[in-house]
Amino acid sequence: MSNVTTGSCLCESVSFEVSGSISKVYFCHCKQCRSWGGHFAAAAGIKKSQLSFSKSESLKWFSSSEVAERGFCEDCGSSLFWKEEGSSRIFIWVGTISDSADLEPAAHMYTKDAGNYYSIPNDCEHFEYDTT
Ligand SMILES: [Zn+2]
Ligand SMILES: [Zn+2]
Repeated sequence: MSNVTTGSCLCESVSFEVSGSISKVYFCHCKQCRSWGGHFAAAAGIKKSQLSFSKSESLKWFSSSEVAERGFCEDCGSSLFWKEEGSSRIFIWVGTISDSADLEPAAHMYTKDAGNYYSIPNDCEHFEYDTT
């Protein structure tokens, strides 16, 4: 039985499918993620080969560092993807997934960079920096 997950940006100009399993959800409190999405990130990893697009004309990539790019919809502004140069993995911002019922929390990372205007939930492990 094939296990397919679908997702899209807010305006649905970017629509994607993921075949197979998706990692647990990593919450990233780094300043880049908080600036990019407006709050801390909730993202899950897959292999790039699991991802396919039914629509992607408005998908744009922003080089957020020398080694990483962030994918977003240029029409509605939704934050969608993060990928690192040379990696076979890509992270999906899980709010864009249509049915996220099976997702579970993995870890909170970059907790040292968390904003002082919220508390980090104790739903999974905390790491001061990267853990993935
Ligand atoms: Zn959009
Ligand atoms: Zn981050």
